[in-house]
Amino acid sequence: MNTLAIDIGGTKLAAALINAEHQIFQRTEVSTPADAAPLALEHALSQLLEAYQGQAQRVAIASTGIIDNGILTALNPDNLGGLNRFPLQATVEKLTGLPCIVLNDAQAAAWAEYCHLSAQFKHLTFITVSTGVGGGIVVDGELLSGPLAGHIGHTLADPQGPACGCGRVGCVEAIASGRAIATAASHELEGKNAREIFAHAQAGHPQAQQLVARSAQAICQLIANLKALLDTDCVVLGGSVGLAQGYRQQVEQQLARLPAAFQVPIYAAHYQHDAGLMGAALWSENQSA
Ligand SMILES: [Zn+2]
Repeated sequence: MNTLAIDIGGTKLAAALINAEHQIFQRTEVSTPADAAPLALEHALSQLLEAYQGQAQRVAIASTGIIDNGILTALNPDNLGGLNRFPLQATVEKLTGLPCIVLNDAQAAAWAEYCHLSAQFKHLTFITVSTGVGGGIVVDGELLSGPLAGHIGHTLADPQGPACGCGRVGCVEAIASGRAIATAASHELEGKNAREIFAHAQAGHPQAQQLVARSAQAICQLIANLKALLDTDCVVLGGSVGLAQGYRQQVEQQLARLPAAFQVPIYAAHYQHDAGLMGAALWSENQSA
């Protein structure tokens, strides 16, 4: 039994086959259409899926945004061009003729990481710090898969903080994300992206170090909140910022300064680029089991 797994992100659409032994093969990628009109996305999906005809028995999708009964809506209009109520599951079922499940991409990644660590932990929170900040929560071996569950980037970090793309003010995402790090840069760092600012921080640039520390501090406080809220057993950190050299260690050092009750082990994500694909496939198995 092969699962056709699809990952829909803000910049890329990826697809691959995943077999019963959880091996990934025939991975392909296309760019997410810049014009995120529903027809443009349907066309890109149809091109991507053509090569997989007759090779899978079911489809599992991980997608950025809010997933409600197979319907996709972008929470932050900066992502996916503000796509509104796109019938993702129905569209892919029509294109492939196969049964299909849809999960938010960070929820899918959380499920993949949970499956990897389930011998040790029953409560796990996955946090991705990348262009945005997202997450997925597993409580007592169950993934919280509700439409907004795990959108922890849009919890409050600082009431005096900057406006967030979601419409709230001072969200974790507006302070800790790669986009937020780049936006807050000034003087000689103005116009640089998060990757360049990280390189400057590594080289000892004080403002760059401050921007990275501010992001790590927001993630540290988020983790303490998650511990208080869910008694999560462990946190898995992913995303391009979350996995940047030295970032997780900074979050750990800041967390170590908080009272013992808020301490929780922090792991680097095991599945990196394939977390969404693998998580969706594992979840579809779990659903049909
Ligand atoms: Zn927000």
